[in-house]
Amino acid sequence: MEQTFAIIKPDAVERQLTGTILARIEAAGFTIRGMRMVRLTKREAEGFYAVHRERPFFGGLTDFMSSGAIVVLALEAPDAIRKWRDLMGATDPAKAAEGTLRREFGSSIEQNATHGSDAPDTAAFELGYFFRGVELVG
Ligand code: UDP
Ligand code: MG
Repeated sequence: MEQTFAIIKPDAVERQLTGTILARIEAAGFTIRGMRMVRLTKREAEGFYAVHRERPFFGGLTDFMSSGAIVVLALEAPDAIRKWRDLMGATDPAKAAEGTLRREFGSSIEQNATHGSDAPDTAAFELGYFFRGVELVG
């Protein structure tokens, strides 16, 4: 078993897609081990995305991620990191495969509905950024 970290981003929460995306997560076979709705400050969003701080999109991305409520999730499944990336699809919704969440619910390369960790070390950092051990159930 493996755990990964996921976010339902502000664009998707704002559009009332939280329940739909959670249903897709469960239908795909993930077990939800942690879940919380939060509103990030700009500084918290900058800390989360620190790896991207030199990128041209960093300011816009962290404005967006602190613009409204998000839902943070700890997801468990065999091969969870790759499996969740596959369900989300490519970063740019226009390039994401048919049937993926970003293709279906994303509206731009920035406002792409969901986040997912990309490797075991980032999953560990991101899970730890939002969840204490005692908050992970099961
Ligand atoms: N992003 C953006 N412009 C870009 C690339 C990425 O606004 O040109 C945003 C987008 O919301 C993306 C996030 O920055 O999900 C993190 O980028 P990354 O390359 O890590 O993509 P991801 O891992 O989310 O697919
Ligand atoms: Mg990434």
